[in-house]
Amino acid sequence: MAVYQIVKIGSPVLREKAVEVKLITPAIEKLLNNMADTLYAAEGLGLAAPQIGVPKRVVVIDVGDGLLELINPVILEKRGNKAAAEGCLSIPGTTGEVARAAKVRIQALNRQGELVELMGEGVLARAFQHEIDHLDGILFVDIARKTYRQ
Ligand code: ZN
Repeated sequence: MAVYQIVKIGSPVLREKAVEVKLITPAIEKLLNNMADTLYAAEGLGLAAPQIGVPKRVVVIDVGDGLLELINPVILEKRGNKAAAEGCLSIPGTTGEVARAAKVRIQALNRQGELVELMGEGVLARAFQHEIDHLDGILFVDIARKTYRQ
């Protein structure tokens, strides 16, 4: 088990466009394992590789239904709109109200290198969009209608 340090807002890596993973090597598998450990240690719902200082298109999410490992995730379809409260492990102490699609369909590679499609609604849809934004250097405070300091 290895827990990475989570980088905070102000760190340039959070503003980079992360690069696609071309090959799922043992190093990528280790990255996925350690990102999951980091996510659970931080009690978050999702974590993108730039948040641990690695500008690669890798995301882990667990909104309470088990771990999802997403490599090179892309949104295929968005439906509806819903505003809700959101936070981020890289922006401790801040929450914001963010409007996002209510339902999204994504595709990604799993750690076996298979292309999988997933549907997300509610918190999962929000997590997909929040984490994929991280891969493009976008933070929730950029798109929040309002933010609150706790
Ligand atoms: Zn975040």
